[in-house]
Amino acid sequence: MNRARRLIHAPLVADAESVLSMPGAVLLEHDRIVAAGSPESIGQPEDAEVTVLENEAVLPGLVNAHTHLDLSHIGPVPFGGSFTGWIELVRQRRAVEATAIAAATDHGIALALAGGCAAVGDVAGVGSTVPLARLRAAAIGGVSFLECFGLGSKQERTVEFLQQAVGSIPLDRDGVRLGLQPHSPYSCGPAVFAAAARLAAAHNLPICTHLAETLEELEFVRAGTGPLAEMLRGFGAWEPGVGGQGDHPVAILAEVLAAIPFLLAHVNYAGPREFATLAACGARVVYCPRASAYFGHAGHPYRELLAAGIEVALGTDSLLCLDTPDRLGTLDEMRFLHRRDGTDPRLLLRMATTAGARALGLAADSFTLRPGRPAGVLAVPIANPAESPHATLAAVLRGDRPPRWVLPPGRPACLPDQAAVVPDGFTA
Ligand SMILES: [Zn+2]
Repeated sequence: MNRARRLIHAPLVADAESVLSMPGAVLLEHDRIVAAGSPESIGQPEDAEVTVLENEAVLPGLVNAHTHLDLSHIGPVPFGGSFTGWIELVRQRRAVEATAIAAATDHGIALALAGGCAAVGDVAGVGSTVPLARLRAAAIGGVSFLECFGLGSKQERTVEFLQQAVGSIPLDRDGVRLGLQPHSPYSCGPAVFAAAARLAAAHNLPICTHLAETLEELEFVRAGTGPLAEMLRGFGAWEPGVGGQGDHPVAILAEVLAAIPFLLAHVNYAGPREFATLAACGARVVYCPRASAYFGHAGHPYRELLAAGIEVALGTDSLLCLDTPDRLGTLDEMRFLHRRDGTDPRLLLRMATTAGARALGLAADSFTLRPGRPAGVLAVPIANPAESPHATLAAVLRGDRPPRWVLPPGRPACLPDQAAVVPDGFTA
């Protein structure tokens, strides 16, 4: 028997685009998919070792398009009711020293893999390259978004930091790319956004920001008032001309959004005018359902965004916001949305796989069961048997047990350097 070939039979085999079969089968050879589909279409290759999964579905590895692995040491924390109070808590408890950042990131990577994610869009929150190095040393792919902050007269220094970082860090290695993350419109000024967009376009880097996340952000951007204005004054980061641009965050960033397709984390608060702008700009949105609910945001316009032709991926945000201390994955976001909104399970699978891959600039086919080298293959418990493939995929989402890897994501061989780059200025 050729043990390099494995034939897996399962009650359901599904991805977002090419396969939805009940029962189903997948033929693997080493780390590649040879075929996936109905058992009849795959047949019984004589040289393959056969595994029969009694009550698990086979799905592709997932993408978590927005997370903060370097906060994973903190664990879940109840929300105290104030967004600025929460930012203060993160500032106090986050790791800032390279060894501690590495340990927190490693813990986060283990939790992401336990959650079934083969790729992450991770925000390196203190402008450190340590998370990038740890991702490159691990069996996980994706993007490490280097986060920066800079308002008013501090923008010049932040632009220099970005230029220096892009000029000195290997941009694409071991399946992990460098990305840029101007933190938000209440913590980065127009010169920082413009410079980050220019650098991202020139070097073909993914670029992300937190946008339209809270009502506090909308108030600060529109009027220059509210809790975020007070917080920035407390940090010494406020100065005349900061905030109060008189419009919605999407409108004030419209020019830079039009210059390069941004990945926008959250977008909890937006309407038809903003949907039109985002669609025209080719922006993608990453929605973090459990984090959004954790902060008390009522609903989310993900269906309106999708209807406007905007790609919506799923993310977890940080472990602080989650109810799964043992994992950091978008399977649990799919489950949350299916339970709350009855969202179509195949649409959710797309949001957690191919949409996430496209949002991060990764090869979407790696997050399907098409022939070729996948970014891992999962077995996920089915809560109870159902009549149709669609209903069985829904039954997968009614469960709450963790997924397991049938074919784990590959492990890059090259160990990266450990250099840290920490800019001055406030960190949130
Ligand atoms: Zn975030």
